[in-house]
Amino acid sequence: MHTNSIIELSETAYQKNVDFLKTTFGKKVIVSSVVKGNAYGHGIAEFTSMAYNCGINHFSVFDVQEAKAVKEVLEDKVTVMVMGLVNDEDMQWVIENNVEFFVFDKSRLNQAIKISKKINKKAILHIEVETGMNRTGFDKKDLNAVISIVKKEIQHLYLKGLCTHYAGAESVANYYRVDNQIKKFEEIYELFCKNDLKPEMRHSACSAASIMFPQTRMDLVRIGIMQYGMWPSPEVFVTYLQAKKNKIDPLQRVISWKSKIMSVKNVKTGDFIGYGTSFMAKRNMKIAVVPIGYCHGYSRSLSNQGRVLIHGQRCTVVGSVNMNMMTVDVTDVDIAKKEDEVVLIGTQKTLAVSVASFSDFSNQLNYELLTRISTAIPRKIKQ
Ligand SMILES: *Cc1c(COP(=O)(O)O)cnc(C)c1O
Repeated sequence: MHTNSIIELSETAYQKNVDFLKTTFGKKVIVSSVVKGNAYGHGIAEFTSMAYNCGINHFSVFDVQEAKAVKEVLEDKVTVMVMGLVNDEDMQWVIENNVEFFVFDKSRLNQAIKISKKINKKAILHIEVETGMNRTGFDKKDLNAVISIVKKEIQHLYLKGLCTHYAGAESVANYYRVDNQIKKFEEIYELFCKNDLKPEMRHSACSAASIMFPQTRMDLVRIGIMQYGMWPSPEVFVTYLQAKKNKIDPLQRVISWKSKIMSVKNVKTGDFIGYGTSFMAKRNMKIAVVPIGYCHGYSRSLSNQGRVLIHGQRCTVVGSVNMNMMTVDVTDVDIAKKEDEVVLIGTQKTLAVSVASFSDFSNQLNYELLTRISTAIPRKIKQ
């Protein structure tokens, strides 16, 4: 290893997740792999190429930069859909490259029409409608105008999809709100059809909605967290299990993050470790220094709390996580020495550190912790 650490992606685990998703949703539903946020920290280039090998040919990204990253690897072999930002100056590249995109306000709609006229090529739209999340999406009052503009300019536009996004499908507490959104979305679809503007497909589900509300699967599901082998929340996992006879988790973590011990030292009872006084040795201790810190995405909130694996044993981070390194208690790992493997996320012998346990045991944080992992760390696909 020439770097501080390495991230490994398990193709076997990913293939299992894809197979599970495809069997769950059935042949008629397209699984769009959501790879925003550097593929949830997995590394967009490596991850999308692996996903393609595992049978994925539809990707959802947040912005044009990410769309370019996918195109760079997979060219025109896959469909790329931008769910968020398309700057006006990027619209031409987007249309020229058959990149599909969400349209949720009039200025983007007008820009799409303007550029498609200019280059004489149809823009491929997914009209996003507001159903109750109150983030992006056309409001109900604008829909008649949108419908008439799209119909008028239909020789420049290809209405590929009608879509929306739910406000917290991962929690039963939001059941009423999400249920209302589903009904609204259905009404809006009917409004389009009544006006002779039938979108080719409808889509609305993220991971959580696809399990909690199966009727939201429609023609395509936008799956982020579950393809990486994690549940959006414990509630979603429990809901999934309830319907199953065998109580086995079908998802497997794809990511592993590994480093090596940089140096080892002994510390006497009563000494403080690292900056300040947050950790005092209560016995004579052996400490391993690991060259990973918050600049690599290992959160400072894991100071005196994070767990790593060394020689198959769970070891605790002691003292604060620094910018480039941290200290770990290896008092009970006699053989621990410089160059030994340190697992930050992943498995070693019989133990595992999940992303969730790497935080404060709340699955909600999976998203945030994963996306914080530095883009500079090399990613490697292994079987
Ligand atoms: C991030 C995102 C998703 C995927 O969410 P997961 O919970 O990771 O499955 C789906 N749709 C939109 C619009 C998103 O922004």
